Amino acid sequence: MQTPWGFPDFDAHEALHFVHDAATGLRAIIAVHSTHLGPAAGGTRFWHYADDADALTDALRLSRGMSFKNAMAGLPLGGGKAVILAPADRSKTPALLAAFGLAIDQLGGQYVTAEDVGMSVSDMIEIARKTRFVAGLPVAGGAVGGDPGPHTSLGVFLGIKAAVKHALGKDSVAGLRIALQGAGSVASGVAMHAAAEGATLIIADVDGPRAQALATQVSGSVVDPAAILSTPADVVSPCALGAILTEQSIAALKTPIVAGGANNQLATHADGERIHARGILYAPDYVINAGGIINVSTEYVRDGDASLVRQRIEAIPARLEQIWADSASSNRNPAEVADAMAMALIGR
Ligand code: NAD
Repeated sequence: MQTPWGFPDFDAHEALHFVHDAATGLRAIIAVHSTHLGPAAGGTRFWHYADDADALTDALRLSRGMSFKNAMAGLPLGGGKAVILAPADRSKTPALLAAFGLAIDQLGGQYVTAEDVGMSVSDMIEIARKTRFVAGLPVAGGAVGGDPGPHTSLGVFLGIKAAVKHALGKDSVAGLRIALQGAGSVASGVAMHAAAEGATLIIADVDGPRAQALATQVSGSVVDPAAILSTPADVVSPCALGAILTEQSIAALKTPIVAGGANNQLATHADGERIHARGILYAPDYVINAGGIINVSTEYVRDGDASLVRQRIEAIPARLEQIWADSASSNRNPAEVADAMAMALIGR
């Protein structure tokens, strides 16, 4: 498609907001991909980028992914994402978060934020001092809210089980080897669910002690981060950063299934085809990892309770099944099938 801007990842985004606050040093990009189905919702990533272009690419790609994710999860939300360009020491102050909250507020509800990599519930509290367009806030007494991570983990785990059923004909992950890239919020929840069902976990994180701590907790083992995607396993579950499925890494995969929570796992469109051509079952990332935004949406829109959140997350496996069935009948790869479904939903 012809786009009005020369950025490679520009996909007819409705708006891009570049935020700068000299007093606090805040530099952020808020990308609004689509408000077709509702306010553009998606978390804020706090990350130290090598350069500004990397931050822009991340915001463009992640916000598009949110449009697709929210649409495929049946939520009344459009897609957006924010990135805050963190300093090298990754320090953040309440004043910087307040300035960011004010920037969100000035958009008048066009964008709604929540947690993403590098942002916590306590950060959302700081942001909420300046804007009501924020979710992922703490709640009491079983109400819907809080850290989306555990909900994402549950959805990813259920998606892994669906993939195992589809590709291996098994009803359980008991006795299977799951290679987990990352040992953070999403990965650790996936590891707990999988270990509780009897899977063996092989874990890698660039933060070695974090990987070791998780491995100890789930009686798993640790491998070098450079080796995790080529580790022989029944499932490879990328739960760290994006663009890790490349021509090279796909060629090295030794697994029948790739199903994980990281956003934007495919480096390029062609990689969706490459993984399919190798006969590896791929769970489109924005479908399998929608559990967190399902919780965020239910909190923000206030259209349900915790049991409805659970029901909505439990619908993820059926959505994956539909994609894999369409993929088989149309001989298109699952990523392509999911993109086509999502684009139809957001009117693109
Ligand atoms: P997190 O910050 O808690 O954990 C990410 C972990 O990945 C960190 O421990 C980090 O050290 C590790 N890591 C970074 N690069 C790595 C590499 N090359 N190899 C191995 N480990 C590496 O973040 P999270 O909330 O667990 O999110 C993980 C992924 O899931 C991200 O892509 C995020 O966008 C996506 N996601 C998260 C949620 C959520 O609810 N938290 C929802 C949907 C998608």
